[in-house]
Amino acid sequence: MSSCISKRMLSIKQSQTLEIASKTRKMKSDNIDVISLGVGESEFDTPIHVKYSAIKSIVEGDTKYTDVGGKIELREAICKKFSDDYNLSYNSDEVIVSAGAKQVLFNLFFVTLNPAEEVILIKPYWNSYVEMVNAIGGKVVFVDSVQEDNFSLNLTRLEASISDKTKWILLNYPNNPTGKILLKNEIEGVILLLKKYPHVNLILDEIYEYITFNSAGEYCNFQSYMKNNFLKDRIFFINGVSKTYSMTGWRIGYGVGNSDIIKAMRIIQSHTTSNPSSISQAAALSAIVSSKEFIQVHLESWRKKRDILFDALVSIKGVKCSKSQGAFYLFPDFSYFLGQLTKEKKEIKTSVDLSMYLLESAKISTIPGEVFGKKEHLRFSYAVDEKKLDIAVSNLLLAMKNLSFN
Ligand code: PLP
Repeated sequence: MSSCISKRMLSIKQSQTLEIASKTRKMKSDNIDVISLGVGESEFDTPIHVKYSAIKSIVEGDTKYTDVGGKIELREAICKKFSDDYNLSYNSDEVIVSAGAKQVLFNLFFVTLNPAEEVILIKPYWNSYVEMVNAIGGKVVFVDSVQEDNFSLNLTRLEASISDKTKWILLNYPNNPTGKILLKNEIEGVILLLKKYPHVNLILDEIYEYITFNSAGEYCNFQSYMKNNFLKDRIFFINGVSKTYSMTGWRIGYGVGNSDIIKAMRIIQSHTTSNPSSISQAAALSAIVSSKEFIQVHLESWRKKRDILFDALVSIKGVKCSKSQGAFYLFPDFSYFLGQLTKEKKEIKTSVDLSMYLLESAKISTIPGEVFGKKEHLRFSYAVDEKKLDIAVSNLLLAMKNLSFN
């Protein structure tokens, strides 16, 4: 039957992050105690009041199709969030709710990209963007950002990458995999580019929106520049409840932007998934409207864990690492170790080899930088129980000591 697979599929790779996760699960099912620093999800449970809202919705018979683009009360709550957080006014026709931010992105690319139209991504990038754009027949254009520069947005390179085929610049901050947040000069630079190139639009993937540890004054956002509807029609927000509310399994994401684009996204969604789960929507509504106090507790825990992992990483001779200000990732550069040998004299040629070595010898799972377009790096998630993180750090330090040039 493999001859039935379409040519289009040949250019699409399976999500490699999920592959590593499944290998880790397999080791765990074989009773090997692997500590997962690989998967991008919170270690905390979904808040209990959110779970109860879902149970209530089931019991009360909220178990049928909903509005294609999500229940009106959920879309209105998302509008209120934009108004409360940023004083920006959106109505429910400018919002779509889908099965995770992933589906929002796929719908968005699907309804806006003609063949060979371009999406500019900053490298390192979240790999699903690349696969989705390719799947739809669009073209990805990469703009590099580098560790030495704390992964800052190079506006000269960004401008040079704009062509008459550019449809979107896609920015994801706080960033997966680097944890970088956006700075004022970067935002202002992008706004100047949007003014200069009116055919270019901006996607802002803010799935890690509330997960920042920036020092006061450092953090900045596009929303604060959007007063009086400035650029409102050209900026499309991607967000969801997965990361902030520890709700990855519930599959609720949302998009906010131009109503014509939203309308087109509703059409494609109506023919694919009809609507996101009615029960998950009830849970997401409860998450979005209720107190966010618990986030502060999670943030304090993540900040502490980031520091533990960061201090350990930079204590390893040869490792270079930026201290991330958001999300729950660190993305150190291990290029010093490429070419080194394990005790068994096996050469570590790539970050995939290094990730595999750490999985086998330190029993920790990480994501190789190749996945994000940076082959000298590894991505570590520190969203893990603190005791486990301590063990992972000791194992990591020992495993790295066991590598040498001869
Ligand atoms: N955007 C980024 C940058 C992500 O890291 C992820 C998940 O890892 C998503 C979007 C997808 O989120 P969801 O689980 O809501 O589909």
